[in-house]
Amino acid sequence: MAEPALEGLIEALRRLPGVGQKSAQRMAFHLLQHDREGAQRIAHALTTAVNDIRHCERCHTFTEAAICRTCLDDTRDQRLLCVVETPADQAAMERTGSYRGLYFVLMGRLSPLDGIGVRDIGLQQLVSRAGDGSVDEVIVATSFTAEGEATAHVIAEALKLRGVKVTRLARGVPIGSELEYVDLGTIAHALVDRR
Ligand SMILES: [Zn+2]
Repeated sequence: MAEPALEGLIEALRRLPGVGQKSAQRMAFHLLQHDREGAQRIAHALTTAVNDIRHCERCHTFTEAAICRTCLDDTRDQRLLCVVETPADQAAMERTGSYRGLYFVLMGRLSPLDGIGVRDIGLQQLVSRAGDGSVDEVIVATSFTAEGEATAHVIAEALKLRGVKVTRLARGVPIGSELEYVDLGTIAHALVDRR
């Protein structure tokens, strides 16, 4: 029988994606036995991040300010808006070094089975952002999974109704893949070949 505090720690660690009972237990034992200072740092970093990080009012990505640095960067091309699913996908796009426009981060994708609908991905906010007169083209870079494609379709339909030009990353990206895990050269090509 484990101590309640230990049990609680293991339960908490299990909330992390991909972490089951065994890994959670291993992490808990490691921290308590070998790295209590690290454990304090994790606890502190989590508290700070949860308290200070919110969503950018313009693009919904993570930021500590009301509007993120990317949105405020006036050297970027204000006429291009790239729609990605997650901040990780945004980071992947940034690492290619071949995109200099702005972003809209959905913070997910349509998934009716999980109860994630158009409201949860901020479709209305995206439509008003893209239709505010400053954007010439919206590049939809959702993943090439069934849900990502469905999301791309719904976004394209909504934006076309508003007369906004919509393109999709080209098909160089393997079907079924999440942008975050695709190599940078492939993303860069898909960006250039968008249609
Ligand atoms: Zn922003």
